Amino acid sequence: MLPFLRSDLVELAAYKPELGVYKASPVSDVPTQSDKLDTNESPYDLPIELKEKLVWTYKELIETNRYPDGGHILLRQSISEYVNESGLLSSNVFVSNNISVGNGSDELIRSILIATCLGGNGSVLVAQPTFSMYGILAQALGIPVVTVPRNSDSFEINLEAASEAIKNTQKQPIRTVFVVHPNSPTGNPLTAPELEWLRSLPENILVVIDEAYFEFSQTTLADELSQHPNWVILRTFSKGFRLAAMRVGYSIAHPEVIAILEKVRLPYNLPSFSIAAALIAIQNRSLLLESVSQILDERSKLIKTLSQYPELQVSESAANFIFLRLKAKDDGQINNSLKYLHKQLKDSGTLIRLTGGGLRITVGSPSENARTLDRFEVAFKNLEL
Ligand SMILES: *Cc1c(COP(=O)(O)O)cnc(C)c1O
Repeated sequence: MLPFLRSDLVELAAYKPELGVYKASPVSDVPTQSDKLDTNESPYDLPIELKEKLVWTYKELIETNRYPDGGHILLRQSISEYVNESGLLSSNVFVSNNISVGNGSDELIRSILIATCLGGNGSVLVAQPTFSMYGILAQALGIPVVTVPRNSDSFEINLEAASEAIKNTQKQPIRTVFVVHPNSPTGNPLTAPELEWLRSLPENILVVIDEAYFEFSQTTLADELSQHPNWVILRTFSKGFRLAAMRVGYSIAHPEVIAILEKVRLPYNLPSFSIAAALIAIQNRSLLLESVSQILDERSKLIKTLSQYPELQVSESAANFIFLRLKAKDDGQINNSLKYLHKQLKDSGTLIRLTGGGLRITVGSPSENARTLDRFEVAFKNLEL
């Protein structure tokens, strides 16, 4: 190993994206065929009329020799209006100063870690299984990650273990708690006891509530933010808004938290093209979000059909993916069978995610979902449990 590199980074298991999938392959050996149901994107591209608006904006309004608007003035304004009108908010009114925009919410996660834990200032708490980027980004910054388990049926966080972990002031106290609402990969929204626990956390701990799937779940804690200056909500344009290619995420929080996130991020973190795309998406949100109800109908169909396999434990989901576990007794056998199913589906043309002791399958278009079910049936025939 090169002696100037941090030795802990050699062991770090980074996030490994599958090969990019293009509609038509620009280079010969990039796959174009698979149903890509492993990263919870929307199955629907931006409608062509919105792509045309974006092209027009690019041609007429963006000067490529100029830096982007590093303060995201219009975008933050526009996002705050979208958050306010989500219909669930009784009294809160958010303004630009409550919003910080990131190059995907991944960047915001990193900014939060820099702002709270970096330099020996603290560690983070996550309940496994959950979104892998919290742990990966923390480790890359040399920040300790404390994990607690979830109940294996309801996937509720083991709150006793979580409270214990916080009390046990390790070398570095827990400074940030990450939860996803609803959780990935398991699909469950936060329960009343989990919410009570989050509300009870002291003000010297930052609570990050990742609402990446808000457009599907329609559950948000935005209404409670004003009572909790130690809470941050994360959202993204990568899922319901169909803009994963553009890398736009945002956080909603107390202005003092936002001011720090603005300080630690890169000055021009979002390309002008991405800013323009997010603005167009918000302006045309009713058109874009029409796809949500169809995805939810398709989700019910997938859950219903897969629940008929006696060997599968299929969870309810509040997001655009479903999560399956196998009911076999012995762990080794479960792992082998999951790997087998994952590979069979991949070889037959459907990419899904093997994670958290189960399989996570993104809800795709109706034809993709029909193929998923067919391919599952074939794979299952050859599986011995
Ligand atoms: C998909 C996802 C995100 C989105 O990340 P981006 O960087 O905005 O694409 C964030 N959090 C969770 C839990 C997710 O599943």
